[in-house]
Amino acid sequence: MFEDRSKKERTELSDLGEFGLIDYLTRDITPRNASTLKGIGDDAAVIDAGNDVVLVTTDQLNEGVHFDLSYTPLKHLGYKAAVVNFSDIYAMNGRPEQMVVGLSVSNRFSVEALDSFYEGLKLASERYGVDLVGGDTTSSASGMFVSITVIGRAAKEEVVYRHGAAENHLLCVSGDLGAAYMGLLLLEREKQVFKANPAMQPDLEGHDYVLERMLKPEARRDIVGRLREAGITPSAMIDISDGLASEVLHICQKSGVGAVVYEDKIPVDAETALLCSEFQIHPTTAALNGGEDYELLFTIPLADHEKIKSVAGVTVIGHITGEAGMAHLVTPDNRLITLTAQGWNHYTDQSATAS
Ligand code: ADP
Ligand code: MG
Repeated sequence: MFEDRSKKERTELSDLGEFGLIDYLTRDITPRNASTLKGIGDDAAVIDAGNDVVLVTTDQLNEGVHFDLSYTPLKHLGYKAAVVNFSDIYAMNGRPEQMVVGLSVSNRFSVEALDSFYEGLKLASERYGVDLVGGDTTSSASGMFVSITVIGRAAKEEVVYRHGAAENHLLCVSGDLGAAYMGLLLLEREKQVFKANPAMQPDLEGHDYVLERMLKPEARRDIVGRLREAGITPSAMIDISDGLASEVLHICQKSGVGAVVYEDKIPVDAETALLCSEFQIHPTTAALNGGEDYELLFTIPLADHEKIKSVAGVTVIGHITGEAGMAHLVTPDNRLITLTAQGWNHYTDQSATAS
């Protein structure tokens, strides 16, 4: 029934990386049902529901890989676990409506601890108007595993995919980038200091913004609303979970286009920049490769240039080119640097966090 695997070569997961592995495992999967409008390959699957479409997305968070409970309050974890999924629905220009929660925990966790986690989930549900409609609970041999699936809705003509970018479209980003990564580095540093000398209290003063960006991110429902009010429908959109470079490349690959990003246009918050200099990390590196910002990256037709200027919280960072699959960064001194997807690789870097 099964092939003799002993004769087969063994490929390490690290040879493929996360995206390579997804591509490989799903290489011959094609939708069988006409109602599956979009299967694998975007922020959410898109399912025909008459005039509307139903959007489905799921994210898995594992203790020790995606979160460290020594500095992550469980309430924050619950909030974040829900919100990162809402972000994927907004990235399709939809509204999240329901969620189901898969939870595996060992007996190391108390009822009170899990209740805190649920407080976070409930707060996110309330703020974003999403119903928690089910889930599954199991025991784990060790640690905590969370899997959340969110179901959303959009009018059929409203859905925005990763594949709609075309030459000369403007590349835009919401908010600012790199803060969540600096928050992570700060928490990791203070954890090491505490481990070396438990008498030392963590020095987190003056770093509220980066910590909040890491521990309690928000999904950009407001941006999606503002774009709608301004009469702008993005031609392509994705949320930034793995870093700007990786997401720009996803839009380029799915749309069969290239992109140019101007380094001096990349929005970085002042507190983030200050911490970058303390850690001797270039702010551009934090923005390009950091990840977990949950901002929206999108493209708009050039004709919407005037309109986008009036949308608060959006920065035009570059434009789309005809050079398929190639994304470049233009430095302030006019050097051209090829962008590579340095999103987290779970399989080679265990210290990484990713979604
Ligand atoms: P995002 O960062 O927006 O959550 P991912 O990079 O995790 O997206 O996933 C990209 C695409 O691959 C999505 O369409 C997702 O549903 C799909 N995908 C991820 N893992 C698997 C898997 N194990 N099997 C099938 N599809 C997957
Ligand atoms: Mg996404």
